[in-house]
Amino acid sequence: MLNQPLSKVLKTTSAHIKQLKEMGILTVEDLLLYFPRGYEDESDFRNISELTEGEVNIVRGLVGSLSNRRLGNGMMLTQCLLTDDTGSVEVIWFNQAYIMQSLKNGDEVILSGRVKSSKYGRVSFQSPKFEKVKEVQVQTGRVVPKYYQSDIKDSKYKITSKWLREKIQPLLYLADFFKEFLPEEVLDRHDLISFSEAVKQIHYPDSDEALKKAKERLGFDELFALQFKALKKKRDWQMSWITEERDRMIFDDALLEKFLLSLPFKLTNAQTKTLNEALIDLRKPYPMLRLVQGDVGSGKTVVAAIAALMTVMSRKDLKSFERPQVAVMAPTGILAKQHYKTFQKLLKPFDIRVELLTGAFTDKQKRSIVENMKLGLTDVVIGTHALIQEGVDFKNLGLAVIDEQHRFGVKQREYLSKFGNPHLLYLSATPIPRTLALTIYGDQDISVIDEMPPGRQEIITRIVPESKRVDAYRWIEDQVAKGRQVYVICPLIDESDTLQVKAVTEEFRRLKEEVFQNLRLGLLHGKLAQAEKDHIMYDFSEGNIDILVSTSVIEVGIDVPNATIILIEGSERFGLSQLHQFRGRVGRGEHQSYCFLFTNTETGENVKRLKAMVDYSSGFKLSEIDLELRGPGEVYGVKQSGIPDLKMASLSDSVLIMKAREEAEKMVKNDSALEKYPLLKEKLQKYGHDDEGYFV
Ligand code: ADP
Ligand code: MG
Repeated sequence: MLNQPLSKVLKTTSAHIKQLKEMGILTVEDLLLYFPRGYEDESDFRNISELTEGEVNIVRGLVGSLSNRRLGNGMMLTQCLLTDDTGSVEVIWFNQAYIMQSLKNGDEVILSGRVKSSKYGRVSFQSPKFEKVKEVQVQTGRVVPKYYQSDIKDSKYKITSKWLREKIQPLLYLADFFKEFLPEEVLDRHDLISFSEAVKQIHYPDSDEALKKAKERLGFDELFALQFKALKKKRDWQMSWITEERDRMIFDDALLEKFLLSLPFKLTNAQTKTLNEALIDLRKPYPMLRLVQGDVGSGKTVVAAIAALMTVMSRKDLKSFERPQVAVMAPTGILAKQHYKTFQKLLKPFDIRVELLTGAFTDKQKRSIVENMKLGLTDVVIGTHALIQEGVDFKNLGLAVIDEQHRFGVKQREYLSKFGNPHLLYLSATPIPRTLALTIYGDQDISVIDEMPPGRQEIITRIVPESKRVDAYRWIEDQVAKGRQVYVICPLIDESDTLQVKAVTEEFRRLKEEVFQNLRLGLLHGKLAQAEKDHIMYDFSEGNIDILVSTSVIEVGIDVPNATIILIEGSERFGLSQLHQFRGRVGRGEHQSYCFLFTNTETGENVKRLKAMVDYSSGFKLSEIDLELRGPGEVYGVKQSGIPDLKMASLSDSVLIMKAREEAEKMVKNDSALEKYPLLKEKLQKYGHDDEGYFV
């Protein structure tokens, strides 16, 4: 039944059939699975005596005095009088002469439309929708579905919402032929309705509750498919790397103790938990794929450094064993250098050889570093993208740490995995809500450092309206006189680098010549050569620059403890997560720090975001608010970041996401080939999700 071609089932023209085909709708099944994009509530009947202008009125009554006549200007006017228990109302349609064929006096109909009152105060319906009263209403008189329509101009053959309503409803009983593909216990556990029932209710819901249940069921299917595929892919990939030859690491617990004691601080609980999760992964006979999420300053680097130490110093349990190497990749040269310093400091005392490799080195320098990597003389190498360029090789790469993972393309990650498939540890300072993380990074294990080291000062955040600008400048001057340093972030103009550079250069000039004549200012933007950027950052970190004026290139983790003020121009233009990143530049030293959000809008959604910045310091909390305020498409950019384009489910429905995750995990664990569930297997193969880009 379900796979019958529509040309056999529908009474319609071949032009319509052709169009349906272009919409990918060929069979009864396709048509039933063409779900509505929304609904209209056409169920709110009122009496004819209560008609109200300016609103949609839905009434039910008997047709009388039906007539057609041509007006002086050539227009065709169709008229009738509709009567219910409370009164009568005139109804007119223009140029819809066919109505005479579909209606006759005495018919009971439902009308839906706006009314107008004439000069004489008489109310009439003007070109309303109408449908004869029958056993099942499909066009009006109830909650009715709205569908995406075909986009041809010729209205005669257009597949309209109205057309689809007329055709789909009579075929809905065939939904009973859909076989249930989810295991019964899954339906029971989560109180989900059957697929057949969901299909019927999603088109013509019996009630709000029934619609909710239908959406829940179909949303579950979608999320389950997504999660199952991601988890299976991860599992298959990991299993494919279980080989006899693969080294299994055995860790030296005493060394770990010793290292932890050597730290000037105690790890936070969240750091300890994350470290343990990573160490458990590292001992497994297949590659780790773990994402560590944590706010700037939450201490991800130390955790990565410990993982590196344990990897390099791990003992063999196979003959082939050689001291494993670690690669650490940062998105910029500045950050790479910073990591280099940190790793040096932490690992040197333990006899680990750490090297830096960035694009700024001469070819000769690079060659010698690369040679050492190849020979295994370097244990830990830290660098930028240059690290994984052609010609680079490792003797025995055991672990790759990738900082700010969202800046690394899938390709680069793929390339990295060619060095014998090392363990992968991603660090991200862009916290996102957990449920969203599960959906986007369904193929990675996730650790969360949601706790700051103790004693961190709160950064004082203020919204600064235009009227307070001058005061703020004077206050900043005072702070600089006391020895503090300042970042000024210029607003986001648009995508164009050139405009960006122009704006920041102009702001730099203005501040230098008109506002802070006596202070030392520096300028930083993306168009500067790497060496120049490094130079300026160096000057700033040495205290030779008081105020650093910058575009958003500053965003990524530089660390200047003496910089205590960040001033963000046009702050309403930035997303919450970016503002949060900026704010993370200060509050890194002993002095009280400040974040000033300059803005000249005082209303709307934008200000809600700025207020959230004032009220909250946790990146996770802010990411939840951002998601709520703007939706995933705007916050994360659907295309670039692999956020799935979900049709039925919502990315903010955390309860449903967790349910789907739970079941997908169970299924992958117990029957990843879906041998016991052939129907589910078939369904998943059909699911049209493009999952390119989800996986390393
Ligand atoms: P992230 O990489 O997450 O931004 P870092 O690892 O750079 O954070 O840590 C920020 C700072 O906090 C560093 O100076 C680090 O030495 C310090 N730090 C890390 N963990 C702790 C801790 N548990 N207690 C105190 N200070 C810590
Ligand atoms: Mg960091």
